[in-house]
Amino acid sequence: MYWDEREETVEQARLQETQMEGLRETLRRAQGSSYYRDLFKDRRLQIDDIRKLADIEMLPLTTKDDLREHWPWGFVAVAREELIRMHSSSGTTGRATVIFHTANDIKAWTHLVARSMYMTGMRRGDVFQNMMTYGLFTGGLGFHYGAEEIGALVIPAGAGNSKRQIQLICDFGTTFIHIIPSYALYLSTVFDEMHVDPRKDTKLKAAFIGAEPHSEKMRRTIEDLYGFKAYNSYGLSEMNGPGVAFECPCQNGLHIWEDQFLVEIIDPLTGKPLADGQEGELVMTTLKREGMPLIRYRTKDLTRIIPGPCDCGRTHRRIERIKGRTDDMMIIKGVNIFPIQIEKRLMEIPGVGTNFLVLLDREGYDDYMNVQVEVKREFFTGDLKQLEKLRRRIVEELKSDILITPRVDLVAPDSLPKTEGKAVRVIDNRKD
Ligand code: ADP
Ligand code: ZN
Repeated sequence: MYWDEREETVEQARLQETQMEGLRETLRRAQGSSYYRDLFKDRRLQIDDIRKLADIEMLPLTTKDDLREHWPWGFVAVAREELIRMHSSSGTTGRATVIFHTANDIKAWTHLVARSMYMTGMRRGDVFQNMMTYGLFTGGLGFHYGAEEIGALVIPAGAGNSKRQIQLICDFGTTFIHIIPSYALYLSTVFDEMHVDPRKDTKLKAAFIGAEPHSEKMRRTIEDLYGFKAYNSYGLSEMNGPGVAFECPCQNGLHIWEDQFLVEIIDPLTGKPLADGQEGELVMTTLKREGMPLIRYRTKDLTRIIPGPCDCGRTHRRIERIKGRTDDMMIIKGVNIFPIQIEKRLMEIPGVGTNFLVLLDREGYDDYMNVQVEVKREFFTGDLKQLEKLRRRIVEELKSDILITPRVDLVAPDSLPKTEGKAVRVIDNRKD
C-alpha cells in the first residue's frame, strides 16, 4: 500500500523536525547562488535567525519574475558540472523559467513520483502510457522515471496522435495512463469514432490527470467515460514538476509531500500567512534540492490545506484541488470569475461537448464575455429549436453562477482550436 511506509506515515512532529533540518540545509545551500547570496546580504539576513519553522516568515518571497530576471544561472547554487538535467516551465504566462537538477535532485524527484503512483495502485507488471509532451516539459520525463522506478513497463507515447495512442493502449494492454484532462475528454470522442469502448475493450485501470485546473465534475465525467479512476496530479516545474501533490485512493484532496517541500498558504494580496482551511496562494520552499534551492516560492496557484487526517493513514497534509492561478482570474464588470467555474457548469449540461473557449472583449466602456461551446455530435443536428433551447440553458446556468450574462455561441464538435498541452480557456482581447 505504501511505497515507503515509514516516510509516508511519519508523525507530524517528527516530520516537522526533518523539515527544520531541511530548511536549514536549504538556507545554507542557497548561499551558493548569486541571487540568494545578494538578497541575504542586502537584507542583512542571517541563517541562524531562523530557529523554528514559523521564522520562515522573516524571509522574503521568491516570484516567477525573480526567476525570469535572474535567468538562466542566477539561482543555481552548485558548480555547473554538478548539474545533469535542465527543464523548463510551459511558459503559460510568459517567458518560461528554467530549473537545473543535480543527480541527487533527479533521484529525489523520481522517488516522489514513484511514491505518488504507487499510492494509487500502480505496480511492477503494469503498463504505463505517458501521453504528455516529452522534452523540456516536466510531465514527460518526470513521470517516466517514476514509473520505471516502480518497475512498470513504460510506453513513452508523448502527446497527440490520438489514433496511435488508442492503438498502443489496445495492442500493449496499457493499464495506467498520464493525460491532460481536457485531452482525455477529446480522446474519448476518438475512441467513439474508432468504435473502441475504453471500458470494455481495454485493460485501463486508472489515469493520472493534471497540468491544468479541472473541476470535480470534469474528473467524474472522465471516470465515467473510461470506466476507471482518475487521480489528480499536481506539480510545477519550479518544484521539480509532477510529484508535488497527488491524490490517494480516498480522492479527497492531494497529499503534498512535506518531507521535500515546506508548504505555506498566504493571502495573495497582502502576503500574510493564512491558517489551515483558508483559501489562498500556495507558497513552497524546497527542502532537499541541491541544484537550485527555492525559498518561499509563490506558485500563484490558489488552494487551501484540508484540515485533519486522511483515512489512508498518510500524515502529509492535503491540499484541495487547485482552483486556478491568481492571474487566471477574469474581472468582468467588477465580478471575479475563474475559468474552472465555467467549465464546471458546462460539464453539468447534457448536450455540451468536450471543449469551450471564453473570449473577453470591450465595446465602448463595456466589457462582455463570449463563451463558445462545442456541442455533442448527437446534438448537432438540423434541429435549430433544440439547439436554441440548449444555448439559452447555457446562458441561464452560467448567469446563475458567475452573475453576469454571457453571450453564448454553440459551435460544431471538434471545431475549437486544440493544443497538445494545456488547454487555452480564455482569450482576452480587452488589453489592446
Ligand atoms: P507553467 O507555469 O508555465 O504552466 P508548468 O509546466 O510548470 O508551467 O506548470 C505548472 C502549473 O500548472 C501549476 O503552477 C498549475 O498552475 C498548473 N497545474 C499543474 N497541475 C495541476 C493540477 N493538477 N490542477 C490544476 N492546475 C495544475
Ligand atoms: Zn490519503
